[in-house]
Amino acid sequence: DQHFIWFAIVAVILLTIVLYRFTDRLGKNVSKLSIFAYKADHNESLEVEDLAKFPNDELGEIAERIIKMYKRIQTTRREQDVLKRQLTQNIAHELKTPVASIQGYIETILTDTKMTEENRQLFLERSFAQTQRLTAILQDISTLHRLDSGTIAYEFEPVDIYETVSHIQQETALQLSGRRMTFVNQLPSPLIVRGNASLLYSIFRNLTDNAIAYAGDGTTITLTARQTGDYWHFCFSDNGVGIPQEHLMRIFERFYRVDKGRSRKMGGTGLGLAIVKNAVIMHGGTITACRNEGSGVRFVFDIHC
Ligand code: ADP
Repeated sequence: DQHFIWFAIVAVILLTIVLYRFTDRLGKNVSKLSIFAYKADHNESLEVEDLAKFPNDELGEIAERIIKMYKRIQTTRREQDVLKRQLTQNIAHELKTPVASIQGYIETILTDTKMTEENRQLFLERSFAQTQRLTAILQDISTLHRLDSGTIAYEFEPVDIYETVSHIQQETALQLSGRRMTFVNQLPSPLIVRGNASLLYSIFRNLTDNAIAYAGDGTTITLTARQTGDYWHFCFSDNGVGIPQEHLMRIFERFYRVDKGRSRKMGGTGLGLAIVKNAVIMHGGTITACRNEGSGVRFVFDIHC
């Protein structure tokens, strides 16, 4: 049948054209995606056309998702680079001042041969104070580095927080009385959590040192806790000068201070609250700072039991 043969030939030609167009489009998209994957893998720069829109089919959707993920990772990497650079700058800036002071004092002692014994002693004492400051900064940087690295395993054991806080109260008794401050420890005894004793100590020690340094004379520190489920919720507050609202969100950042001059004068490294935050996270919790009703600041955080 002549008609049937012609019909079959036309049908085969049409089918071939349709199939060719389909596989051609698929092939182009797959090779586009493979070029993109190769360049991304080899960290080569991507042209705009590599990130161009894919057709509106399943493959296009997958490709666009992959590209979106890639762009997100690139942005995060760029942000991390900026943060790293800022941190390095901050560390250099923090170290510069004490190092320059020590250099200045020692240079004066060495060059001024007629210096009185009294002045020499004074300059040496000041140099020593600056070395203590350097040690404090380096210790805090090292603690944060260990917390960040995630590779150093911290030993977790049952720790009595009531006892930890009682020790801190004894250790800071002189400073507290010097400022006519009261520390009200309303924790139940014993209050046992599974954690790292040294990190848990640094949480409460840093908060206490900060309250002593900034809250002001005659103020009161109050520490309470309640348990819900697997967590202990702590509230560490003082009724001192407090922290202005616009700074509250940022005080856990490294080297962030409300009053730079006062912090340095009080021996602050600007890293205390960053350590507190990371130590709390290490114990499965989160921490926030808010204005206390009345006056002062309230740190609310939880620790896994
Ligand atoms: P620093 O070494 O400067 O104390 P921190 O990270 O411990 O660094 O604290 C950050 C800043 O938060 C401090 O410089 C201080 O301005 C503010 N701050 C912390 N605790 C208190 C507090 N209890 N009352 C008032 N201000 C505080």
